[in-house]
Amino acid sequence: MSDVSGSELRALMARVPSVEKVMASPEFAALVDAYGRSQVLTVLRDALDHWRASAQSGDASVSALDVARLQAVVDSALRRRNRSRLQSVFNLTGTVLHTNLGRALLPDEAVQSVMKALTQPANLEFDLDSGKRGDRDDLVDELIGELTGAEAATVVNNNAAAVLLTLSALASKKEVIVSRGELVEIGGAFRIPDIMSRAGARLREVGTTNRTHLKDYEEAIGPRTALLMKVHASNYAISGFTKEVGVDAIASLAHARGLPVAVDLGSGTLVDLVQWGLPRETTVRETVEAGADLVTFSGDKLLGGPQAGLIVGRRDLIAKIKKHPLKRALRVGKLTLAALEPVLQLYRAPEKLAERLTTLRLLTRAADDIRLAAERVQPVLQRAIGERYAVLAEPMFSQIGSGALPVDVLPSYGLVIRTADGKRGGRQLLALEKLLREMARPVIGRIADDALRLDLRCLEAADELQLIDQLIEQLKGAPA
Ligand SMILES: *Cc1c(COP(=O)(O)O)cnc(C)c1O
Repeated sequence: MSDVSGSELRALMARVPSVEKVMASPEFAALVDAYGRSQVLTVLRDALDHWRASAQSGDASVSALDVARLQAVVDSALRRRNRSRLQSVFNLTGTVLHTNLGRALLPDEAVQSVMKALTQPANLEFDLDSGKRGDRDDLVDELIGELTGAEAATVVNNNAAAVLLTLSALASKKEVIVSRGELVEIGGAFRIPDIMSRAGARLREVGTTNRTHLKDYEEAIGPRTALLMKVHASNYAISGFTKEVGVDAIASLAHARGLPVAVDLGSGTLVDLVQWGLPRETTVRETVEAGADLVTFSGDKLLGGPQAGLIVGRRDLIAKIKKHPLKRALRVGKLTLAALEPVLQLYRAPEKLAERLTTLRLLTRAADDIRLAAERVQPVLQRAIGERYAVLAEPMFSQIGSGALPVDVLPSYGLVIRTADGKRGGRQLLALEKLLREMARPVIGRIADDALRLDLRCLEAADELQLIDQLIEQLKGAPA
């Protein structure tokens, strides 16, 4: 390039048009219409800077530059710039309630309800009977009471908020008695001792990691005690020489001393999952009936609804919680309530739940049905990713996720991809994992035991068709 003469360079520079000329062209009128003038200008200036730099360095390809070429470049840059960062993916991780992939998927009833709430005014805090100001919790309070047996309820942004608010409202500057076996960390930044201190409560640990007795609670009660609390261990289990005290016994003790009991159930299912062959989880109703004065649980775990934290229990305590200033900061918006109400309504027909509630439908999907899907997708994926990989349909186990025990409980089926030469091929598997993750709709699996594993439990019919189309479309012949 150094041998390009001064006059040739000037000629190349002259090929790069002015901003004004390009913007006045009919090719750019359509872009301005679609994206707005200021945004098109920003992107066009970047493109022209780039071409000018190329011209200055004597890059001969600049001589082919024209407005049509610029239009294509700017159009594609604008598309990339405006593509949503939040994208749909295929959750083939085998974890149904995957926190990083947005947990519960909502049934159509909830989708319709959210659409309405998005586009039409609603009686969020307006009592249609009296014409006066209402309370947003009233929209779901009665329904939650019906499903849990609790006297009252309030809804906040998530369960971590529910626990924080409960402790702040009932135990600030006082003591809360918790078993050492229940001082858990639940993913990310949710740790019971930290939440406790954030709420201004003093943690009074009792018992040991593996064994806590009723007398441990009894001996810890003192003049500063505000609350006895139980926490669902969620994502870990202690087995062997263990002892924990049930809610009923703690409640009898606490009530005899005039103290309340709060239970953080975590996932908090509303129905007994054993009827669908799933692991036993204590329900919210059972916890209320055992004597818990307050129960907190998530909206988007086993309940299958939107992200939310539900606090249910004694009317006087819920009233106190609702008066706390933090409630205003942690309250849910109309979209959450619009999604939550129809999901809760589905529980009124428990015999239809496994069909209508998306989370439960996925959790109860038969392994045989998943196997058929795996056998349909297998040849397409094999062809798409080529001979360097071997794709097999194999049985595997899915997990519930989000604090349900991390043990393999759900027999499933999926595609297991190994390197065709039988070598461990870590790098080759990582390359494939990346390729799948970068597809138009990213495919998220997991690498374990020298294989990329795609559990098809969460791939229902419409998604299966979309995945197959995408594989045919995008992976043809790749990677070599
Ligand atoms: C998941 C969980 C939480 C946190 O709930 P979020 O809805 O994620 O805020 C709190 N406590 C327990 C026991 C949990 O399992």
